[in-house]
Amino acid sequence: MNTCQVSVVVPCFNEDEVIEAFHRELVSALEPTRQTFEICYVDDGSSDRTRDRIGSLAGADRRVRYTSFSRNFGKEAAMLAGLRMSRGDAVVLMDADLQHPPELLPRMLELRRHGYDQVVARRDRTGEGALRTLLSTLYYRAMGRCMDVSVVDGEGDFRLLSRNAVDAVLALPETNRFSKGIFSWIGFDTTAFTYRNVRRAAGSSKWGGRHLLNYGIDGLISFNSRPLRLAIHAGLALALAALGYALWIIAGVALHGVGVPGYTTLLTAVVALGGIQLATLGVIGEYVGRIYCESKRRPHYVVRETSESPRVPRNSSPNAFPPVPSPVPSSVPQEGAVAVGDVPVGSRAGATVPGAAVSRAAGPRTARQFLTFASIGVVNTAVYLAVYASLNRWIPYLAAHVLGYAVSVVGSFLLNTYLTCRTRPTWQAGVRYPLSSAAGLVLTGVLLSLGVSGLDMDKNLAAVAAGLLATPFSFLLARWAIDSGASLAGRRPYEGQHCA
Ligand code: UDP
Ligand code: MG
Repeated sequence: MNTCQVSVVVPCFNEDEVIEAFHRELVSALEPTRQTFEICYVDDGSSDRTRDRIGSLAGADRRVRYTSFSRNFGKEAAMLAGLRMSRGDAVVLMDADLQHPPELLPRMLELRRHGYDQVVARRDRTGEGALRTLLSTLYYRAMGRCMDVSVVDGEGDFRLLSRNAVDAVLALPETNRFSKGIFSWIGFDTTAFTYRNVRRAAGSSKWGGRHLLNYGIDGLISFNSRPLRLAIHAGLALALAALGYALWIIAGVALHGVGVPGYTTLLTAVVALGGIQLATLGVIGEYVGRIYCESKRRPHYVVRETSESPRVPRNSSPNAFPPVPSPVPSSVPQEGAVAVGDVPVGSRAGATVPGAAVSRAAGPRTARQFLTFASIGVVNTAVYLAVYASLNRWIPYLAAHVLGYAVSVVGSFLLNTYLTCRTRPTWQAGVRYPLSSAAGLVLTGVLLSLGVSGLDMDKNLAAVAAGLLATPFSFLLARWAIDSGASLAGRRPYEGQHCA
């Protein structure tokens, strides 16, 4: 295997506008160092001309190599592929948008010569919006308290790793990768220096608010089980509070006799406890979901082509999948890896994997959607109950039920569109949704009547019971109303990136 002194790994996703300028700056920063180098571009399933551009760069310069994915697998997968491709004694990870200035490379290489295995370039927050700075600072503070590894504000993926450090990173086989935590977890002699934050040279960031939130949750969950501990503590604290409240009521009854029964207290307690239970279930679900993803042992990515292989014509047989240059250290666990991205894949078995990696498992998706739907249901139930409980003293309870239901429909349509189905609202869905809610309204109305008239239940409790019983039915209806026709309309359906 050819080796060189430095490999630069660059994940690229839709960087058409900036990649050539980046390449020029990178080469002019590397050449004066007089070190032998290679540049490993990883095209993360770009939909613009990024792949063609890095293909041309590789054609024109033997020091440039690339791997291109069959679809977008996320930056973590792209970095992993780049590290696996790399052959240098030192490997630098950098973004393609010039936010990681190439002129810092000589300094990083100099620090490497002092014996450091990790040299981290830490950005300051110059030019960043006040809100983002505040949220990031709070996030890192919370992380500092919660995580079992240290993650420092401003320290990202822009870093140099020695070959030993790269081998250690590659020896961690987890599917859900959180590199910031992994780099901290592997240890080794590490040094950092701060540089001034710069804006993107061109193009736009791929990290919207939701991606950042999911990334934050990944960070929290990947390196500790404290959220589970928190759920236990919250449960115990609530149980103690409930015990205290019960003693207080008993003391009140002993001193003053039986007072007027408080429906509001009861409902508040039911809704609040329901919310806490769902949140706790969500936390547990996150961990179970991760165990599920890890147990499938799917490859982290699927390779479309590499610089070492001829380009695969669009209509050629999938058996022609190119081998991936994969200098995986012998310590990397390989068992069960029919993994296009993990091992060479010129085999028949490998050829069947792309479809498997592209299609998403319906089970976990439905479970996630149902949990989100149920959580939104809790919020909407609170809204509905607030309207219903305040109106049913003055108007017939069924009329109060209809009004409460109508108020919550608009809110639930928007929340379920954006959060449960992860798509955008359309007029067709806006028409279908109230119809599906009307079906739910009829069902809950029937159940409510049964509860109140048939079973002689309390009106408020009957409404809660009717709502709970109708939830699975309402979920299916709501999903149909929002999702039906999504692909025809060219809308992006589910975009979860967690499970490879
Ligand atoms: N990137 C990637 N796959 C993705 C998203 C981003 O390979 O799914 C690359 C992107 O091309 C860039 C780097 O990761 O080189 C950082 O992305 P971006 O600039 O969008 O993130 P930000 O700087 O806003 O955090
Ligand atoms: Mg960027």
